[in-house]
Amino acid sequence: MEFVETKLGFQEPDVPPESVFNQCVRCGLCLPTCPTYVETLVETSGPRGRIALIKAVSEGRLDLTSPGFMHQMSECLDCRACEAVCPSGVAYGRLLEPARTQIERATAERRPLFARLVRGFALGMLFSNMALMRFAAALLRFYQRSGLRRFAHESGLLRGLNLESLEALAPAMSRRFFVPSGELRRTTHGVSKATAFMHAGCVMHVAFAEVDEATVRVLTRCGCDVVTPRDQGCCGAIAVHAGEMELGRKLAKRNIESFERSGADVYVVNAAGCGSTLKEYGHLFEADTAWSERASAFSAKVRDVTEFLDAIGIAPELGRIDGVVTYQEPCHLAHAQRITAAPRRLLASIPGLILREMDESSLCCGSAGIYNVTQPEMAGRLQERKVANIVAVDPAFVATANPGCALQVAAGIRKAGRAIEVKHIVELLDEAYAAYKPTSRASSARAASTLA
Ligand code: SF4
Ligand code: SF4
Repeated sequence: MEFVETKLGFQEPDVPPESVFNQCVRCGLCLPTCPTYVETLVETSGPRGRIALIKAVSEGRLDLTSPGFMHQMSECLDCRACEAVCPSGVAYGRLLEPARTQIERATAERRPLFARLVRGFALGMLFSNMALMRFAAALLRFYQRSGLRRFAHESGLLRGLNLESLEALAPAMSRRFFVPSGELRRTTHGVSKATAFMHAGCVMHVAFAEVDEATVRVLTRCGCDVVTPRDQGCCGAIAVHAGEMELGRKLAKRNIESFERSGADVYVVNAAGCGSTLKEYGHLFEADTAWSERASAFSAKVRDVTEFLDAIGIAPELGRIDGVVTYQEPCHLAHAQRITAAPRRLLASIPGLILREMDESSLCCGSAGIYNVTQPEMAGRLQERKVANIVAVDPAFVATANPGCALQVAAGIRKAGRAIEVKHIVELLDEAYAAYKPTSRASSARAASTLA
């Protein structure tokens, strides 16, 4: 698409809608929910201030590429906590993403060549091609598990190439990847309630393959047939959050077509960040009459795995997992998808597991995609705050439902020298099903699960 760069104001296409920022009545009710505001107590580091800045750029009163504006658009975590509490219904996410897109277009040429090449390869090739993603993940796995990683650190090679922070961001690759095979797996529990399309995810299928496998086992155990079509791919969240809307649309089309071809009843996703993007495909194609209806129909069928399991009812044969669990609410589940009760109900249904709430469970942990690279200081502050709240309830497990949160929280717990396991909710359910002994008293212990 053609874009003419100018110094002031936003340019078509992908302009933040005026109707959204004019809805803000400046009441300030969103401020206490905003992680960057509660950390800084600075007005422009809060939603109300950022909305005013976006409005100023839109009206030509502020330069799109002024350092203050670019900093605020980057410091925002896109956690959507402000959206969830706003009495005026300001859809903040619909302002931030176009603003980032515009900044990206206006500043792309100024980035160093190497940074442009890495970004272009990661977004344009890796996230667009799942076979290439697996190939790169296999190389990374070799690097992580052989002596190469140690050599790169000890020799100073990573520091010399300025790749230390990027390397630290890479999650540990799974021993075995979860490769969508196109196979239909039948339910192991009575008559099928639905055929679920399993979204394998781009990062999930190589770095959290065990969570994908657990998801398939739990879904089949709970009465669903599960299909994992080969032609699915990345949801496009990374591209959309980086301001690459055209690429986001391209990736979205692939998933819409794959789901339509599959004939499944529901599109199930186990990563909250992906789920919120998949549920917003309708907005992504608002200006595209050829695709908007298909995108909205697709989004209406998307369900987070916790939301779906809670709705269909889980199989009751759960064994015991003894210990205290606390729940880290992923922003894109709690705020963007407004799902808060279902994950807690699932955890509370596991015999022996005691759910103990931490303070600020829905405040962002500082993960937010590549936030650790773009805003390392704020990411570290939010990580420490989260870990302090976790440690205060002394749990054996932290349960969550998003890979970014799992990585950020686990890294923070390691830094704090604590032995607390971080698990996806479906992993805990899967373990409970595996621990079930039909003859033991555990089978009747569901009623004894405790909410502390
Ligand atoms: S709560 Fe909504 S209306 Fe009030 S300041 Fe925040 S964004 Fe504006
Ligand atoms: S999205 Fe999150 S970080 Fe950004 S303004 Fe809203 S509450 Fe603050």
